[in-house]
Amino acid sequence: MKMNYLIGLIGVLLSLNSCFEMNSVAIDMQKALTHVKIMPVAIIGSGPAGLMAGIYAARGGKPAYIIEGNNPGGLLMKTTDVENWPGEVSIKGPQIIEKLHAQAEHQGVRFVHDSIEAVDFSSWPYKLYTENGDEFTALSVVIATGASPRSLGVPGENDYSGVSSCAVCDGSFFKNQNVVVVGGGDSAIEEAIQLAPHASKITILVRKPQMRAAARMQERLKGYDTISVRYNVEVTKIVGDKDRRVAAVELYDHTTKETTEFPTNGVFLAIGHNPNSEVFKKAVGVDNAGYILVKDRTQETSVPGVFAAGDVQDNRYRQAGSSAGDGSNAGLDAVKFLDEHGYTPKMASKLKPRLFGDPIAESIVTKASVTTPITPQTVQGIVEITDKSSLDTLVAQAANKAVVVNFWAQECPVCKQMAPIFKMVAQEYGDRAIFATVDTDEVTQVVESLFVHKVPCILIFKEGALVARYTGGMSRKDLTLFIDKFVL
Ligand code: NDP
Repeated sequence: MKMNYLIGLIGVLLSLNSCFEMNSVAIDMQKALTHVKIMPVAIIGSGPAGLMAGIYAARGGKPAYIIEGNNPGGLLMKTTDVENWPGEVSIKGPQIIEKLHAQAEHQGVRFVHDSIEAVDFSSWPYKLYTENGDEFTALSVVIATGASPRSLGVPGENDYSGVSSCAVCDGSFFKNQNVVVVGGGDSAIEEAIQLAPHASKITILVRKPQMRAAARMQERLKGYDTISVRYNVEVTKIVGDKDRRVAAVELYDHTTKETTEFPTNGVFLAIGHNPNSEVFKKAVGVDNAGYILVKDRTQETSVPGVFAAGDVQDNRYRQAGSSAGDGSNAGLDAVKFLDEHGYTPKMASKLKPRLFGDPIAESIVTKASVTTPITPQTVQGIVEITDKSSLDTLVAQAANKAVVVNFWAQECPVCKQMAPIFKMVAQEYGDRAIFATVDTDEVTQVVESLFVHKVPCILIFKEGALVARYTGGMSRKDLTLFIDKFVL
């Protein structure tokens, strides 16, 4: 009897273990001395998880670098009121990030404005390859890349203007119009409430007989006469008009089994998120949905010295507060890992000249790969468009030079993330192109005449005509590729 129990127990333990297999990698701190551009703790991602990992690593005495990615600050930058952040009755999402960023800087964390597009964790020290062509050597890594909004995957979704995942960015383009919000979670309620000051009628479309959102969030809807909820309906298609604007959604009603068209001017998606783990999928263990697997109650991934924190590894809680907690743990884990593998004060001083950003380290690298840091303040010469005639004059005078115009709005977090990227790219091009910005809240005449319905939006003019349009956030690399086609 006892024997059977023991065999059963061993079986259960073995099956549990098979979910999480640890890779074996040889770690010898002396090996680091042959490398350059070293980051003792390289943190990928700058949301609450990444920022807290940085704070804990720096407080643990280890040089910590946060590689910010293309959406610095992550999803909190798109959130308005947060009522469940520790110690705050109510605080705006971007304010949380601002405070954590300042705290991390105060602790000595260094920020790198770049994005990781490939990693090599097959041997130690690990390699991180960036979008701007840089290569970093990481002694430990914290992956805190978060999650991105899901799309519906229905016909028409990418074909018409008026589909958005950000009410706080695009709500003001739907003044006195009818819009729908798709989803039944907390985000759907938040999106609807953000739309209320703008749209005249907001319908939340929920595919189940009930919402998943917290009772307290659902309670908030009672204060809004213009918001209503339809249950048991699924969007099967987005229908557009001749101007390529959203005109309706096709709905399948699970109760009546009928498909009907529901007229609307805008579709706001709030249907959850997918983990941003694409770059790491082959390097660390992930589950079926792509969430990075971590071991027991630690932030350890399947690769020694590589940790994961926040939404990229959390399919269950997904809270800003729990992400910050994971990040703190990951920072502590990284410090412990380095301590256990010979990162002594003596070793730290030997490695110091080889750290990323150290002038001596940079001189060891070939001159061609050293880039001068570009700060937004160093950029001059972006023209601020104040009315339609100033844009027309600029385009006419530019002749065969491309005029690249960035349309932005005060309340748009993605625009804030794009602003430094736009400035850096403007500096890169110098006088090979002309760069301008339009504040869409101020210069409405230009916005209307050029049919800008969503921000950020980049328009390119050449030889007096509008030649290209891109709506949404872009990385530095994508923006450069977009502009390159029009620059001699
Ligand atoms: P959730 O995963 O909680 O909810 C997603 C919703 O979208 C569900 O109702 C789901 O339906 C629905 N959905 C998924 N796919 C489709 C589809 N194809 N068509 C129609 N509906 C679909 O995501 P959220 O972004 O709402 O929330 C994520 C986390 O962030 C949660 O933990 C939440 O509590 C938190 N949050 C907190 C906020 C705050 O405190 N202020 C604000 C916003 C989010 P179904 O239920 O049928 O699966």
